[in-house]
Amino acid sequence: GQCVLVCPTGALAEKDETDRVLDYIYDPEVTTVLQFAPAIRVGFGEEFGMPPGTNVEGQIIAAARKLGVDIVLDTNFGADVVIMEEGTELLHRLAERKKPTITSCCPAWINFAEIHYPELLPLLSSTRSPQAVVGAIAKTYLPAKMGLDPKRIRVISIMPCTAKKDEIVRPQLGEDGTPDVDVVLTTREFARLLKREGLDLNTIEPSTFDNPYMSEYTGAGVIFGTTGGVMEAALRTVYKVVNGKELDQIELTQLRGFEGVRSATVDLGGNIGEVKIAMAHGLGETRALMEAIKAGEADFDFIEIMACPGGCVDGGGTLRSKKQYLPYALKRRETMFGIDRKAKVRQSHNNEQVKALYRDFLGSPNSEKAHHLLHTFYTDRKAELELTVKEIWGEIKMST
Ligand code: SF4
Repeated sequence: GQCVLVCPTGALAEKDETDRVLDYIYDPEVTTVLQFAPAIRVGFGEEFGMPPGTNVEGQIIAAARKLGVDIVLDTNFGADVVIMEEGTELLHRLAERKKPTITSCCPAWINFAEIHYPELLPLLSSTRSPQAVVGAIAKTYLPAKMGLDPKRIRVISIMPCTAKKDEIVRPQLGEDGTPDVDVVLTTREFARLLKREGLDLNTIEPSTFDNPYMSEYTGAGVIFGTTGGVMEAALRTVYKVVNGKELDQIELTQLRGFEGVRSATVDLGGNIGEVKIAMAHGLGETRALMEAIKAGEADFDFIEIMACPGGCVDGGGTLRSKKQYLPYALKRRETMFGIDRKAKVRQSHNNEQVKALYRDFLGSPNSEKAHHLLHTFYTDRKAELELTVKEIWGEIKMST
């Protein structure tokens, strides 16, 4: 039989779509755009026998070009844009005393919320995930800048989980039936594709990004791939907006543990003052936190949720060990923090290409255009859960 690997939320089984990617690449009428998630560069080397946590960003860029991809972009760029949108949203909500605001960049968490906690959906940020943001901008802003036909662009994502495959077919994403992202390959599938095409990451000369519009990223963008990273990235930008100056202590090391739920009080200064933040990773911990919110026992302003324990660095599409808690994820995360530490620019709002995107195209964060392209909405899908249970078990009648 066929072996399938399933995402923790049961979102979708891993369906091999490597052929579709090759069809796009070999189609002379099509311009292919490939993006890869923050966590991919620190986990992908293991597929080729490298030690966990090896940073293979340059090799991935080179391998994608050797495959024949036309434009290689970084999902980290999308992460920086997400911070601009979500940070602005958070500030508005804090000013209106609406709380908590919950992050929305993990599609497995979105599915979980829609099915299990529809009553909490108004608390979710409406900002799309980094992969969805890159997809939308790659089919609007990028072709406008590069003189390409948007209809002939195909966006390929390399992602750490199967939930990202499910995300791209959400009816509320895309434009007039055209998806923003056309196909998602997991880490494992991408490795299979490269091997099939005779490409070995160990012997490829690393390359660098060269797209002048959507490939620059900051340290804040890269740490999106680990639990607590979105929170850190957001606070760096929100602090600047509130105080007009950069946050001195930008590494929130006290929040970098692996406890299922971590919380803290952070002083944002200005007219905002102290905010209570929390981070949960893993769906069990997430459920506990949501139950506490419903019971009025959790008083937070901003909450980050990642469905996978550890975050995307240990996503369901990557190599994982069940024997030991997060053995690879720890190394991958270390590398990720190292990339942030060495980055020339470490705050999303200081990304020059992001600034240009707002100046030339979107206007300002949360503008009408930004809302149209970069935000979304969620729906109550509780019925799906009941339906599934009935479909599997039928009506159970107890005889007394
Ligand atoms: Fe995917 Fe897991 Fe990351 Fe969520 S936390 S986006 S499910 S890899």
